[in-house]
Amino acid sequence: MKSKINVKKTLLVFLALFIIIIALDVIFFSSDYFEGNYFKMDTHISVRGDGKNMDFATRDILRAIDDVDSNMNANSVHSKLYKLNNITNNGIEIDKKFEELLRLADDLKTKSGGAFNIAIKPVIDLWGFNGDFKKVPTNDEIKTALETVNNTKINIESEKISLNHGKIDLGGIAKGYVSDLSREILKKYNINYAIIDFGGNILTYGKKSGNSPFKIAISDGNKGSVGYLTVGETCVITSGGYERYFEENGQKYHHIIDPSTGYPASSGLFSVTIISSNGALADGLSTACFVLGLNKGMELVNEYGVDAVFIDNNKKIYITKGAKFTVTAPDYEIINNG
Ligand code: AMP
Ligand code: MG
Repeated sequence: MKSKINVKKTLLVFLALFIIIIALDVIFFSSDYFEGNYFKMDTHISVRGDGKNMDFATRDILRAIDDVDSNMNANSVHSKLYKLNNITNNGIEIDKKFEELLRLADDLKTKSGGAFNIAIKPVIDLWGFNGDFKKVPTNDEIKTALETVNNTKINIESEKISLNHGKIDLGGIAKGYVSDLSREILKKYNINYAIIDFGGNILTYGKKSGNSPFKIAISDGNKGSVGYLTVGETCVITSGGYERYFEENGQKYHHIIDPSTGYPASSGLFSVTIISSNGALADGLSTACFVLGLNKGMELVNEYGVDAVFIDNNKKIYITKGAKFTVTAPDYEIINNG
């Protein structure tokens, strides 16, 4: 009798253990979390997300990046843009999305009073920012290159672009465009949530479990951060002089050029972060605002109705009303909150 009870008890214990193991497996191992790090278009890319087909979505995102590279990378001799800049006088055929991006760049140029200008490429080339040999050009060289920039006419037609002369560079807007393409792909695959970091330009997508928001750090230019933004699904895109620069005679020269001078912008800003669901707009605006400086930059941000965080060279922070920013670094101070 006694041994019968023991057998029953043992069976029950085994059954309970079995159920617990299955439950734990479901809780901990059935997640479709996926993570990958890549290097494309001279940029470190990290993809993290949760969804049944996150691996396929990532594959498609990487393909989309290759596609952007082969169309829009002015520094790749195989790209369509290279052909437009260097080979043909007849313009190139482009798809509808490329056309929309160029129209956005044109709108940004007008509204920023020329602070954002994709025709800046001849000046960028002089400084060597697109190659291995970087140097400070002479004033005369800058003057000549600026004449080219100012005389460049970009004709955007239906699915076609041509230039009278000069060269264009989409480096100030292409990363945000990639964010927009990535969002479409994540949507197509029904991904639960994802964070895609394209060289410090972030796309947040979907909803994390428990609906917790995304926290996106803003860099201090070293290895740390000034603080973090709390956001939902959006793009968080930053331009800063610390991102790409070289030093000559003890002076730093960065890659964002003020088209009114031909020299690296020196508007007193350390970085500008734009928060907008339109990635290409956020990207172009962050570059434009970095050139324009705090006051004119804020005006432009308000004109487009997006949110932003401006950090100046004295560690002062200026934030639009809708941006939720938490400072974590000492020495930094929020001056206005919207
Ligand atoms: P971002 O990091 O988005 O601010 O973009 C910087 C890149 O945009 C540079 O590496 C150049 O390729 C390009 N660029 C630099 N200055 C300008 C400008 N004033 N207008 C448009 N594009 C620019
Ligand atoms: Mg930009």
